[in-house]
Amino acid sequence: MVINSKVLKNLNTYLLSAKVYFKEFILLDILVAIAILLLVEDSRITILLIILLFISSIIVLYLVGRRRDKELDEIKTIINNIRKNRYQSSDEIELSKSLVTLQREIKKMYRKTNDDIESLNKLQQVRSEFLANVSHELRTPIFAIQGFVETLLDGAINDPKVNKQFLGKANQHTISLSNLLNDLIDISMIESGEMKMSFRYFNIDDFLKRVVSEQSSLAETKNLELVYSPIRDSLQLYGDKDKLKQVVVNLLQNAIKYTEKGKVEVLVEEEKLYGKIIVRDTGIGIPPNDLDRIFERFYRVDKMRSRSVGGTGLGLAIVKHILEAHGTAMIVNSECNIGSEFSFKLKK
Ligand code: ADP
Repeated sequence: MVINSKVLKNLNTYLLSAKVYFKEFILLDILVAIAILLLVEDSRITILLIILLFISSIIVLYLVGRRRDKELDEIKTIINNIRKNRYQSSDEIELSKSLVTLQREIKKMYRKTNDDIESLNKLQQVRSEFLANVSHELRTPIFAIQGFVETLLDGAINDPKVNKQFLGKANQHTISLSNLLNDLIDISMIESGEMKMSFRYFNIDDFLKRVVSEQSSLAETKNLELVYSPIRDSLQLYGDKDKLKQVVVNLLQNAIKYTEKGKVEVLVEEEKLYGKIIVRDTGIGIPPNDLDRIFERFYRVDKMRSRSVGGTGLGLAIVKHILEAHGTAMIVNSECNIGSEFSFKLKK
């Protein structure tokens, strides 16, 4: 009796599973029944064949239902396991042979979701680190300004030996603060995709002459020679002039900041399809281990030195983004205490 009720229960379940195919089976049965009625003359055989047809349809429906049930169960288990994070890798996802295409798709989806989650986590981590860095960077000049102002208010304002010096230092820190804010605005514009580029052909010789001459007074303050070797006047390169100015100014200011004696040189090397812009200095250089990291946000080889010369640690990160938008990249060659060379190519 127990067995019978189990069989009946299974029959019921599997037939219900096969319900989606009922219409097709009924249609097929009607067609076969009509064929039997037309072809078989003996009415007893006709009845027998129709009964057989009915029974075989039920058996086939039962088998189809059973298979469908099994497959749906497998899929449900896989979905459940994915939802409960039970898999370590997509290799653990396995369905029976008949579902191999579905298995491939589920694996692809699983990998894509995992990659998305991983990059979201990384992004979250980068955001938190960035925020911590920004807070730290803001705190340094604000505290310094606060300190100088308080000391002046406490009486130093009347001491001619220090009052101007303290005001000058406070002013220096407000400049750092404003540099940092400007760089932060640039970074956020880049990240939100708001930095609009406007590509055009422009005369590189005129461009570099102007940018270099604008930085000459800064080089003079450090007694550095700033030289630009002109290139043929007709050479036109392709890019966004304003953004490229930001790149070259940054490279020049870095070259001047991190060079104590000698010279800073700007030149263009013409190649068949490109023009290569080079900024070279005879400064402190960059240790090999730091070379890969100087383009990271807030990365400085020597934090104290960078801050003392007004660096934000964001300049090269911005430069990298701008060059990426031009489909090019910075190449750096540097040797400690000998100097550095930053170069990038632009299309002719
Ligand atoms: P910063 O505002 O600190 O100059 P950047 O992003 O422009 O930030 O540069 C990152 C770091 O790379 C600098 O702190 C410095 O250590 C190093 N660096 C950049 N340019 C030079 C250079 N020409 N010579 C030596 N070190 C450099």
